[in-house]
Amino acid sequence: MTLKELREQYLKHKQDDFKGISLEQQCKMYHKIKDLLTQQIVRPNCCLAAQHYPSIVFRLNDYYDTENSDGHWHITLIEPSWDFVFGKDYSGWSDEKPDVKFCPYCGKPLPKMVRTKPGPDQKICKITDGGYYCDTCGERCDNCICDLAESVFVPEENLND
Ligand SMILES: [Zn+2]
Ligand SMILES: [Zn+2]
Repeated sequence: MTLKELREQYLKHKQDDFKGISLEQQCKMYHKIKDLLTQQIVRPNCCLAAQHYPSIVFRLNDYYDTENSDGHWHITLIEPSWDFVFGKDYSGWSDEKPDVKFCPYCGKPLPKMVRTKPGPDQKICKITDGGYYCDTCGERCDNCICDLAESVFVPEENLND
């Protein structure tokens, strides 16, 4: 089942207050949707390591306007204790970190990412409050099952195909 189908089914059940399905079925569906959404987290596709050990992900610059914001390659998986060691917010979402330019695994330059129009199958998360609620579904961002706001970005080189 595609993410779109699964999401539609889930939202239908939700409208119905999940009557007719067990809590276990409800959780299973929800987690499957969240799993599929995790796959939408934009990683460089230069090598398998960058896909499997996502130390670099593409994030928006502005979570007060996710429909128009540009984005940047962001370092993740920074050792949390470094915050303590260096007395700085290294592991958090602070966007003051320098831009990442190369894949740390294979050394290829990271692609320039460009915004595309969402496809008919996509239902895009829209955030305008910095990261608390999704305007598209009205849920808290943690519970939102819309497509990730970043999922409309593709490497520029893919557009020339
Ligand atoms: Zn790579
Ligand atoms: Zn949403």
